[in-house]
Amino acid sequence: MATVSLRDVRKSYGPTQVIHGVSIDIADGEFVVIVGPSGCGKSTLLRMVAGLEAITSGTIEIAGRAVNDLEPRARDIAMVFQNYALYPHMSVFDNMAYGLRISGVRGAELRARVEATAAMLELTPFLARKPRELSGGQRQRVAMGRALVRGPAAFLLDEPLSNLDAKLRVQMRLQIKELQRSVGTTALYVTHDQVEAMTLADRLIVMNEGRAEQIDAPMKIYLEPASTFVAGFIGSPAMNILPAEGTERGVRLGGVDLPLGRAAPAADVLVGIRPEDLEAAPEGEGLPLTVQAVELLGADAFAHAAAPGGGTIVLRVPGKQALTPGQRVGAVPVPGLAHFFDPATGRRIP
Ligand code: ADP
Repeated sequence: MATVSLRDVRKSYGPTQVIHGVSIDIADGEFVVIVGPSGCGKSTLLRMVAGLEAITSGTIEIAGRAVNDLEPRARDIAMVFQNYALYPHMSVFDNMAYGLRISGVRGAELRARVEATAAMLELTPFLARKPRELSGGQRQRVAMGRALVRGPAAFLLDEPLSNLDAKLRVQMRLQIKELQRSVGTTALYVTHDQVEAMTLADRLIVMNEGRAEQIDAPMKIYLEPASTFVAGFIGSPAMNILPAEGTERGVRLGGVDLPLGRAAPAADVLVGIRPEDLEAAPEGEGLPLTVQAVELLGADAFAHAAAPGGGTIVLRVPGKQALTPGQRVGAVPVPGLAHFFDPATGRRIP
């Protein structure tokens, strides 16, 4: 168990800078998730902590010790990859024992540690099997077991659930969270999936083009996104973000006054309203909309409508209330939950 600190970590490939100075102090036992769209630098950042990628400048510390120049195996970390990287010719037992054997653990201690970890992961019946004789979920658990058995200072996980089907992903997500909590090992986890990020993390790093746009607890990020990028990335469907004229009571959108339960902070703003913070009302109340398309998900329905003044607005309504295309409705924002952003910078206006 250990703290992990990144201080102004940067990475360039030749003339191209891909990580632009990321800093974070990760507490002992904390679960931090790096999330962002493809190509934003998540894997590069994780691989630099692992030592698989050299850093161009900055400092990385694990347990208070600078590891910039240490080989991966000297960093006391364990990695879990998307493809599991299990040895196909070795049994589950030998896959899990491999790292321990390399560090000189032998005999009864080796057996005891592998068996205890296998029991925790419900892998005991499979210890003699080869990876090809396992299901995807079991293979994933072996990969987790191989990381856990060594009792490392930190776990580094790179999209470890991407190869699983949706149902298994949810199961494994819960299991990983429970395991990490029970062993108390610091974890740094990469995913592009914002639901995975929200549910696993104590804190999130939301990355955008090599920069940490916001670092905070998931709900804090959901409630107070620091920028239009974060607002659009965290939350599904994405937040509605529209140019508007600020007023004393809210905003004016395409000539329609929309009370928001508070004054806008400026005359010229981007207003952000989450689909779940808009209620469908009879025509004539709130913002007048004509429904263009409806996605029925069962419990929920997402109604897409043209906003007065341009752009699209999405409403999240109960599936049973299902609106229909062509229907005219009003949209009433829940008071006090709108967000304001600076149109020039995209940053949140407090
Ligand atoms: P993510 O994991 O968020 O999808 P990556 O960390 O893999 O993103 O990549 C970040 C950026 O760095 C991308 O623009 C990618 O093209 C670039 N990149 C990654 N590896 C290399 C490399 N070996 N050489 C040059 N550019 C690279």
